[in-house]
Amino acid sequence: MSTFADVIVPVPLPGTFTYEIPPEKERFVQTGHRVLVPFGSKQYMGIAMRIHHIPPQGVQVKMITEVVDESPSILLSQLNFWQWIASYYMCPLGDVLKAALPSGLKTETRRRAQKLQEVHTQTEFQLNTAQQKAFDLINSSFQEKNVCLLHGVTSSGKTEIYIHLIQQTIQQGKQVLYLLPEIALTTQITTRLKNIFGNHLGVYHSKFTEAQRVAVWQKQLSDDPFNVILGVRSSIFLPFTHIGLVIIDEEHESSYKQQDPAPRYHARSAAIMLANMYNAKVLLGTATPSIETYHNAITGKYGLVELTRRYKDIQLPTVQIVDTKDLTRRKLMEGPFSPLLLSKMRQAIDKGEQVILFQNRRGFAPFIECHTCGWVPKCLNCDVSLTYHKQHNQLTCHYCGFTYPVPAQCPACENNDLQSRGFGTERIEDYILQYFPQAKVSRMDLDTTKTRKAYEKLINDFASGQTNILIGTQMVSKGLDFDNVSVVGIINADSMLNYPDFRSHERAYHLMAQVAGRAGRKNKQGLVVLQTKNPDLPIIHQVVENDYEQLYNDQLAERQLFLYPPFCHLIYIYLKHKKESVADEAAQLLSTQLRQTFGNNILGPDKPTVGRVQTLFIRKIIIKVKLSSSIYKISEYLQTLQQQLLANKGFSALTIYYDVDPQ
Ligand code: ADP
Ligand code: ZN
Ligand code: ZN
Repeated sequence: MSTFADVIVPVPLPGTFTYEIPPEKERFVQTGHRVLVPFGSKQYMGIAMRIHHIPPQGVQVKMITEVVDESPSILLSQLNFWQWIASYYMCPLGDVLKAALPSGLKTETRRRAQKLQEVHTQTEFQLNTAQQKAFDLINSSFQEKNVCLLHGVTSSGKTEIYIHLIQQTIQQGKQVLYLLPEIALTTQITTRLKNIFGNHLGVYHSKFTEAQRVAVWQKQLSDDPFNVILGVRSSIFLPFTHIGLVIIDEEHESSYKQQDPAPRYHARSAAIMLANMYNAKVLLGTATPSIETYHNAITGKYGLVELTRRYKDIQLPTVQIVDTKDLTRRKLMEGPFSPLLLSKMRQAIDKGEQVILFQNRRGFAPFIECHTCGWVPKCLNCDVSLTYHKQHNQLTCHYCGFTYPVPAQCPACENNDLQSRGFGTERIEDYILQYFPQAKVSRMDLDTTKTRKAYEKLINDFASGQTNILIGTQMVSKGLDFDNVSVVGIINADSMLNYPDFRSHERAYHLMAQVAGRAGRKNKQGLVVLQTKNPDLPIIHQVVENDYEQLYNDQLAERQLFLYPPFCHLIYIYLKHKKESVADEAAQLLSTQLRQTFGNNILGPDKPTVGRVQTLFIRKIIIKVKLSSSIYKISEYLQTLQQQLLANKGFSALTIYYDVDPQ
């Protein structure tokens, strides 16, 4: 009797593929073993999922080429978790495999034991009264509920509370997974934890070398795994055997959602699911909870613990609003700066204090325009205008990354009258160098932080006072702990507010509150200058008053009225094709079918804001799923519709994918 293995193969096709196990290897292959298998004309590293004796019908079964592992590289619990991801986020298991395994394990390396350096253990801080109380409340909440939200203002010492919870969990003989957004996982936090947990701590980061990542994976499979994993989104895929606590810091961060490629999973939801599988507890921490999480806490699904004071009672900063529309009319703006912001910056610099300027656009100018005829250069592959980058003197598409030379004259009217429009961080830096020629200025955005080293140097230089002014995109808002920042300038709140998405105000609040939280952390109260053309918008006042409750109430009422999460689930369906007519026709067909089932809860098809990316035309359909419906059933139904649609003549080259719980 032959033995077969159903194998997950890293290809974007649904399901597993059955292979015969060579008779001499039969006794060695188990679920979770890596096996080399032929697929099409290639060999792939797959994972054996199920071992059985049922020959597949109507196909010629191929043989496994090689059994790579001596013992399983993937645990059964991990495979269950992968299956959940694939079915909930509607993507092939092969895509989950690709996201989960470090590349080092996708090649034939045999597993090797890891060498560890001895690290000395320094002591942790005592919790103050408020922190101790929060710690106790979290513990009692865990008696009843699996998930608890720690809502604590910036600098209230949430990290200290995490540290105490981690210690408690380790003492119970269980493991801890501590998740941070990519950008917040700096040497600052790593060092702090290494000092306390020494060799018990493993760090897992996407910028680590393959060898480092594989070493962590293997250590987790060994008899002596790390007790604590500090990691980014993808560390939910590591092998755990006895996890007891998951901490998700900055839980509101939209970067916990993987956008591209599939699996488009939300690490917060997935980690809660993971914890569930192990009967573990989850602590969500943030100063600005996501509306969904806060809703779950308020309605009693999650526990809720609040810390309203900063450690040592340092006051939250004062926020002053500046009406830039009025100042522009009165011709009082100096480039992107109000006189107030400039004078406050000058005072701070004169006193040896530091300044952070926040502008959520990178590059020099968001676009350039012909002053004579209005021509704007656009990307040839995508439906967007190009951003001017002065340093390289080129135009860049922020969607596909393509770069173009700056034309000497307007190709439409042949005049030499091309002008920069708007302000990116690079241009803000230019202005600052003119106004403050003595100051040491640095800029933190995607362009200046291509490597982790560059990013950490920017942070360290600012933390040690070598830089006076830090200009940056949302990167400057992420969990940085500086002592000497007295002024924070929000150059333009409007670009965040005008973004066409139901979450734009929530997100703008998060960003502004977080960046404001960088002001006056240790010694004294700081000042935030908030520049906007819409000083009367409620959200601006919510930022000024630090009134999260009001933001939540307003946003929740709006979402209830227009039916958005947390009152439903959203599924976005994307259809892409080289020909616009094909994308359009397919989207029309699909949405007509969907309307028969979901009625008015189907929106679209629409052309997204950027209607073409990398030469493919895009159509988008939105499904608003009732909370009582099962995403898994809908997932099956959509798969069927998709197969029918792709069977249509002319549609075979169509790309269809789903974004479940989009961010
Ligand atoms: P949060 O995570 O809430 O923003 P942190 O945990 O980073 O706050 O704490 C802010 C600062 O206060 C840090 O520099 C931290 O070392 C210090 N701090 C917080 N709690 C304590 C404590 N109990 N003892 C000593 N220092 C503390
Ligand atoms: Zn022109
Ligand atoms: Zn492009």
